[in-house]
Amino acid sequence: MPAPRLGISPNAELVLSMITKRQQRPQRRKAEPGQSDTAALVQRMDRGLSIQHPHTGASTLRVIPLGGVEEVGENMTIFEYENDILIVDMGFAFPDENMPGVDYIIPDTKYLQENKHKIRGVVITHGHLDHIGAVPYILPKIGDPPVFTMPLTAAFVERRLEEFHLLGRSQIHRLDIDQVLNLGTFSLRFFRLNHNIPDSMGLSIRTPAGHIIYATDWKFDHTPVDNKPSEFHKIATYGGEGVTLLMSDSTNAEVPGYSLSEKDLGETIDRVFRDAQGRIVFATFSTLINRIQQVFNSATKYDRKVVVTGRSIVASVEIAFSLGILKIPPKLIIRAEAARRLPDNKVVILSTGSQGEESASLARMARGEHKTITIKAGDTVVISASPIPGNEAAVGSVMNNMTRLGARVIYNKNLDIHSSGHAKQEDLKMMISLVKPKYFMPIHGEHHMLVAHAELAHNLGVPDANIFILDNGDAVVLREGTAKKMEHVIKTGLVFIDGLGVGDVGEVVLRDRKVMAEDGMFVVIMQIDRKTGKLANQPDIISRGFVYMKESEDLLREVKHEVRKVVETKSNKPQEPNWAYIRSRVRDQIGEFLFQRTERRPLILPVIIEV
Ligand SMILES: [Zn+2]
Repeated sequence: MPAPRLGISPNAELVLSMITKRQQRPQRRKAEPGQSDTAALVQRMDRGLSIQHPHTGASTLRVIPLGGVEEVGENMTIFEYENDILIVDMGFAFPDENMPGVDYIIPDTKYLQENKHKIRGVVITHGHLDHIGAVPYILPKIGDPPVFTMPLTAAFVERRLEEFHLLGRSQIHRLDIDQVLNLGTFSLRFFRLNHNIPDSMGLSIRTPAGHIIYATDWKFDHTPVDNKPSEFHKIATYGGEGVTLLMSDSTNAEVPGYSLSEKDLGETIDRVFRDAQGRIVFATFSTLINRIQQVFNSATKYDRKVVVTGRSIVASVEIAFSLGILKIPPKLIIRAEAARRLPDNKVVILSTGSQGEESASLARMARGEHKTITIKAGDTVVISASPIPGNEAAVGSVMNNMTRLGARVIYNKNLDIHSSGHAKQEDLKMMISLVKPKYFMPIHGEHHMLVAHAELAHNLGVPDANIFILDNGDAVVLREGTAKKMEHVIKTGLVFIDGLGVGDVGEVVLRDRKVMAEDGMFVVIMQIDRKTGKLANQPDIISRGFVYMKESEDLLREVKHEVRKVVETKSNKPQEPNWAYIRSRVRDQIGEFLFQRTERRPLILPVIIEV
């Protein structure tokens, strides 16, 4: 798993090329004349909470997830009514093992690029990367529309844009949780939800076609660390007003019970601090601000000083502290150098790298490559985050290294140190009961999670015909308060990001990478006489990851013989040798020959030098 490259500054002009998985069906519509400017439409606030039920229009609202309903990650949904598009979230996903070398995946936004004149704004629900990670890749491609979000999220979005030298293009607006925001036809209200990052919120979206509640990445926590519980009263009020469609988080739809409160987790952290004899190394996600607060609280209580290490966690702590969200007593945070002069039981090291990322602080400490911190016997290492699927091996390797160095490692298997930020079944049921939607659409999860969530809704009495499980690019179409599902409404796919490249790694490149990873590569260099079409001398063979050449001399000799047969076959007219044809025959026939001898299929690269 490659480490996230947060600091990359891509070319000013990124080329988004797309990988199409489905049939293309974008509908290009013309802008209506006299349409008002986006700036004039936004922030017509303070209409108060008692919105008149909009008189029913005949037009349709299309709700289309571009990502996030076939995976955990790359969350992005569009709401389209007549000439207005509202976008909610813009996240990326981490690649799986079938995508070697790919850093991130972002949704395909071709449809939005073609319809950017309709985009009225982007609302971001919270500051996690699977909701904001794609912002710098996508915003410039869709005309830098204004972004609306809560203050902490806004700061994270700005930091992300700054890393890409894009700050100042899109306007980033801070929302008040109680305001009403009108974007084109959409009238939006917001409600606070608990999650493991502060300032998470859900949306009430009013349109002439229906009323939608959008609730992603949430749980109910009656004793949250920031003392701001979910706004049940607002959710219940929406339910009373009548909700056409509820869209809700499915991440933990298969997990029975209620979510653990962050406060309970605080007690676990407290126990670790109480019992640890030496230093404590605490690794978590940089955005788990509430978790970080609890570490600071326990450190204060047990008279330990905190060293913060890792670029992203230092930045998060700074942002959250400057907004007054993190409470840090003076002199609690010290430099690593100063910590060396303290007794071990007076030190906490707060670190990034809970996913085993190769270049993050924790992995560097585990490999003994960290500039200022070395792990030693007596240390207690806490990994306070469940591995994202695909990262288990990397996390395992960090844990092995840590224990070899003599540290005690605590993680979610031997101590419930990671409280999920996502609602479990009982909370999910309560949301459905409060909102009482006519239609239900599970979001945020892989297909099997959506199905489990649909079953909960079914058990609560939502008719099966009113439950929509979508794939990316499908739509729920609402018209006059009724809804139906339509498949493949717009083309979607995955856009791969590899280093500075956005979309330039496609399925062909990935296939080659997989072939090379599995069976290596085999280069055949042939000097061919232009006049006779014959080999001027013996072909050269270079192989990597296929066979060890010194021990395979017989095989290589035979290959060279085969190459000569292929090149000098009578069907090649000597007067006009067709190089492309020779290359493809060498590729096919040498490929077949090697497979018969070795049962391996290396990537074969024929190179012809004309002489
Ligand atoms: Zn989240």
